[in-house]
Amino acid sequence: MQKKIRLKKSVVKKLKILGSILIVILVIFFFYSSQIHSLTKLGYSVDASRKILFQFKKEYVLSVGENKTLNAAFESDDYKEKYLDQYSKIDYQNHEHLIKNINTLIEKGYSNDTISMILAHGSDEDVTEFAKRDKINYLEEFYSLPYAKLSNYDRYVAYSNETGEDDETTVLVVNLDMDKENYEDPVIVSDYSTDMLVNKHRSLTKDYVPSDLVSIDEEYAADDTQAGSRIAVNAFIQMYKAAKNDGYDLVINSSYRSYEEQEETCNTYRGLYGENYVKNYVALPGFSEHQTGLAFDIGSRNSNIFAESLEYEWMQENAYKYGFIQRFPAKYEAITGFRAEPWHYRYVGKKIAKYIYENDISFEEYYVLFLDSES
Ligand code: ZN
Repeated sequence: MQKKIRLKKSVVKKLKILGSILIVILVIFFFYSSQIHSLTKLGYSVDASRKILFQFKKEYVLSVGENKTLNAAFESDDYKEKYLDQYSKIDYQNHEHLIKNINTLIEKGYSNDTISMILAHGSDEDVTEFAKRDKINYLEEFYSLPYAKLSNYDRYVAYSNETGEDDETTVLVVNLDMDKENYEDPVIVSDYSTDMLVNKHRSLTKDYVPSDLVSIDEEYAADDTQAGSRIAVNAFIQMYKAAKNDGYDLVINSSYRSYEEQEETCNTYRGLYGENYVKNYVALPGFSEHQTGLAFDIGSRNSNIFAESLEYEWMQENAYKYGFIQRFPAKYEAITGFRAEPWHYRYVGKKIAKYIYENDISFEEYYVLFLDSES
């Protein structure tokens, strides 16, 4: 006889309830996951998505769509619901205190567009400092220029009030530290590349020697003591040969000078022509481009006055093709701080030399526009 195993009715009932609970939990779990997924696929982090759901802002966020500032707001402990709409309209920056600073700037009365502009012109630290100030009107006059720096605001105002210069000149001059005295409080250049900027506000250290220093063959130089950075020397040789082909004869009269040699040069000229001459024509040690190994004083073997030679004319039209620029033309005296030096050429590479040739700007301006990454 077969004995049927029968569960008691009460046990069956319990199992059914348990099963139902399990199904409900699974449904909730899948629903929750799909809700989170609808947000994460728009670029919101899981952390931000969770907060969006629990604060019942999902519909709003979906209507906005992908938005990095909104994501940062929901991730942040500084999130304030009343500013939700503003967060979504302010451009994102990767700043640690982004939301805290946005809150402060909103409370100061800045518009969304102005806040976006403020955030785009400084680091997290710059914005934090700026947010402590009273509200400033008309920030656009300087900050419509993409390279204007938030941290320079007071100097822009001071320079523009003092000189009456337009906004563009003001920002350029201050970004180059040219509102300070020559040689005062200089930037120490540590990015050793063919596009480094060394001038009366930007100095090399005493021990800086180009890592690829090579001596220059006498075929190309006035004597056998000349040297330069390998890349610049090779570019010069290319240029020399091209000029030769066209019937011109270039020569390097002066090239790499160490810090100590620059010191001697200064002393020599000081003795010969006095302090004013040194100020205008010679750079103090550390502040000379000759220490980079990328600058050459070029002459003509056919003429004593280079500026009046056919070689000079040839250089005007051709130097950029080999990566060289005339560094101190008369028209840029105000910005370079040097009187015209028709003989002084600087290797900056073909790309930069071509841009400078085509757009007729100084290397200082090029630096502010494209190379200055501190902003
Ligand atoms: Zn020179």
